[in-house]
Amino acid sequence: MQDASADSGWANHSQEIPQVEKDTEMSVKSKVALITGAASGIGKRIAEVLADNGAHIAVADINQAAAQAAADEIKARGVKATAVVMDVTDEAAVDAGVEKAVKDLGSVDILVSNAGIQIVNPIENFSYADWKKMMAIHVDGAFLTTRACIKHMYAAGNGGSIIYMGSVHSKEASKLKAPYVAAKHALIGLAKVIAKEGAPHKVRANVICPGFVRTPLVEKQIPEQAKELGISEADVIKNVMLKETVDGEFTTVDDVAQCALFLAGFETNALTGQSLVVSHGWFMQ
Ligand code: NAD
Repeated sequence: MQDASADSGWANHSQEIPQVEKDTEMSVKSKVALITGAASGIGKRIAEVLADNGAHIAVADINQAAAQAAADEIKARGVKATAVVMDVTDEAAVDAGVEKAVKDLGSVDILVSNAGIQIVNPIENFSYADWKKMMAIHVDGAFLTTRACIKHMYAAGNGGSIIYMGSVHSKEASKLKAPYVAAKHALIGLAKVIAKEGAPHKVRANVICPGFVRTPLVEKQIPEQAKELGISEADVIKNVMLKETVDGEFTTVDDVAQCALFLAGFETNALTGQSLVVSHGWFMQ
């Protein structure tokens, strides 16, 4: 009887499959990560998780006291940490802050461009000032921090990982969020360009796209949206924020931090220019 595996050309050849030498290890140990907006919410948890995996952390935030407190907490986890006060929309402050981080910690290998705010309003009521503020924090901030950090990554020659904090709103729209949705979509375009430009230097760029996470940024929106939409706060949570999820659950800061750890530690250009959606199935790509 003929051996079925001979036809498939598969089963009998297992011994011929070359063993891949693992010459890289997915790790952030001893790398330096600069995380914007790391004094609160998602950025703070990313700082903690990267630190617990051996990375040294620059806590970059506009809130000086909270940044210092977060950096002190990170140090207590047994790695080096420094607080860098910067408004990510201020070119000189970003450049100076990145220089300080490199001086204090020796390099910058990982950038998590995460600082962000939310302003909700229907388009006809959106002030130009608020529109520009949103674009400045999310898009200009990503550009300025990327430019300042990537120079050091290129010069050091050790590659690097740039992670932008996108959102399901990098893929989907919601009412009342015109500049937020526009800005978060823009980050995907930016990441794709940085992936191409950074590739010869082994600098990768990716976007994390979380669903709703209960941080101060979201807690503030619940009553605001209830008022704008004329519904209860419970309905905002159930029928606006979590309506399209597979299980009615919020994404957590830890869910997002684990994604950041994975992207930060991934060593090759195999994973670059991508966006990773972590949203309880709200958006499936
Ligand atoms: P958060 O309000 O808890 O933290 C934001 C941090 O950014 C704060 O520490 C704040 O001081 C800092 N910050 C604000 N403006 C700044 C500026 N100009 N320069 C430097 N720092 C500044 O918010 P969060 O929910 O942790 O949001 C972090 C990121 O995650 C944002 O980009 C947000 O758009 C994104 N995101 C949040 C959610 C969510 O549901 N919470 C979902 C998807 C994406």
